[in-house]
Amino acid sequence: MIKKKICMLGAFAVGKTSLVQRYVHSLFSDKYHTTVGVKIEKAQVRLENTDVDLIIWDLHGEDEFQHVRLSYLKGSSGCIYVADGTRKTTLATALNLKEIVENTIGKIPFILVVNKLDLRDQWEIDPLTLEDIREKGTIVIQTSAKTGDEVKEVFQLLTKKMMDK
Ligand code: GDP
Ligand code: MG
Repeated sequence: MIKKKICMLGAFAVGKTSLVQRYVHSLFSDKYHTTVGVKIEKAQVRLENTDVDLIIWDLHGEDEFQHVRLSYLKGSSGCIYVADGTRKTTLATALNLKEIVENTIGKIPFILVVNKLDLRDQWEIDPLTLEDIREKGTIVIQTSAKTGDEVKEVFQLLTKKMMDK
């Protein structure tokens, strides 16, 4: 059985925990629970002829990131950087975290997720900004942990990228 560790990273309250709970347990809650430390979830992804066990590390927010032990990142095969479409600054935070990770453990497959698509009328992140990022070769997926929109696709695509590597 192939096992791959992936990390969820992004600013406070962008929806990291909600995306994992939606994907792993098909659940969504409006209640806010700050993740303390790290929560580890498992999920199985079936690609064409391989089953992959994803070990999903849900780290706490960027403010505490400096204090996240580097050993949390160690052994990661992929990363999901999450921004919240309704808060523009969270995009810069996600991109900054990507720099930190790459400077720490080197380049690994990743996807940039812009979450809270169900609140699109309140979005501060401009589609053109996302288009620019895409043009530089980054995969950007817009999701809603609330409705489940595109959530499964994120984890499947990242798994595929890790296996193709
Ligand atoms: P984390 O700090 O990044 O783990 O964020 P959480 O997953 O705890 O979510 C923060 C808050 O945003 C919670 O109140 C969630 O219910 C809410 N939330 C998360 N994802 C979505 C989404 O896709 N749509 C909406 N409307 N709210 C969301
Ligand atoms: Mg959390």
